[in-house]
Amino acid sequence: MTRPYLLLTPGPLTTSTTVKEAMLRDWCTWDKDYNGLVQSIRTRLVHLATSSPEPYTAVLMQGSGTFSVESVIGTVVPRDGKLLVLTNGAYGNRIAQMAAVYGITTSVLDFGETDCVTAGAVEERLQEEPDITHVAMVHCETTTGMLNPLADVSKVVKRYNKICIVDAMSSFGGIPIDVSELGIDFLISSANKCIQGVPGFGFVIARTEALLACEGQARSLSLDLYDQWQVMEKGGGKWRFTSPTHVVRAFDQALVELEVEGGIQARYERYKANQHLLAEGMEQLGFCALLPKELHSPIITSFYYPLSESFTFEALYEKLKAAGFVIYPGKISTADTFRIGNIGEIYKADIVKLLQVINDELFW
Ligand SMILES: *Cc1c(COP(=O)(O)O)cnc(C)c1O
Repeated sequence: MTRPYLLLTPGPLTTSTTVKEAMLRDWCTWDKDYNGLVQSIRTRLVHLATSSPEPYTAVLMQGSGTFSVESVIGTVVPRDGKLLVLTNGAYGNRIAQMAAVYGITTSVLDFGETDCVTAGAVEERLQEEPDITHVAMVHCETTTGMLNPLADVSKVVKRYNKICIVDAMSSFGGIPIDVSELGIDFLISSANKCIQGVPGFGFVIARTEALLACEGQARSLSLDLYDQWQVMEKGGGKWRFTSPTHVVRAFDQALVELEVEGGIQARYERYKANQHLLAEGMEQLGFCALLPKELHSPIITSFYYPLSESFTFEALYEKLKAAGFVIYPGKISTADTFRIGNIGEIYKADIVKLLQVINDELFW
């Protein structure tokens, strides 16, 4: 075994000992205690997503976050629908790719990798193509760490009466979002991001009326969001197929710990403080961030490789790993970058130590 390290990555991320310990018990997937836990999780998720919970429901879906995104794309767009995908990174592109696999009529609005999505361009496209019925966007584009202007875009999407789908995978739980205020119909996230659980399932916060319209539309059996919801509703927390019981139990504990921390606003403040300390500290060490500060998210930050012949990402990665930190390679095609995440059980002292290690290891 290599020595344990902190995950400075955008999920899986560093979880608390108590979240891990919650998995040291087996649960029966159809027992009423377990199903009651599932129902409680669904209710708490809706309350985290909006202060007006009545018109909303939550559906849990097995698999990594991508499975939940795919369950939404494949279920909610009808055969005669047309999906507009806004993209400025790998996760937006992935939504377009899903739509292509399912043969969904799609319009793609690509902003490039380093510019944020703009409401003006979305409005223009909606005017040019009035047959668009659904709009999908990524809130925090984890590819670069870009935070897209969700409120501005969702306002336009609602004004044009389109169904609004948001991949809030890496932001929900770490950045305040109110789906009702923003008019979001489907918001997707997963267990192993800002709620700080372990990987194994994703979830969808759905406007119940919009989900009710999706019966029989799914292009996949196992990723049928409507059917999954129906079974959970009618079965009082039952999953259609084997559920990740340990992961669900850990997620329940993670929700308790989110509440103890003071809720999403308090977690947001911690993440934001972590990210500011990281970005400023790296700048002082001579690193340059890929994006201007106003486009940074409090989740993850991309940095250019330093201008040094002797620098390699692999060497930096190995040195940091030996010192107890794991970072992420870059994911964009136009520049050599690496990424450092600051979500999970990560505190100021961890960032200070990381910066210290990088400073000590400035070997290039
Ligand atoms: C993590 C993430 C996903 C899902 O990725 P998985 O590897 O399937 O968990 C989707 N969108 C965004 C923006 C993400 O950060």
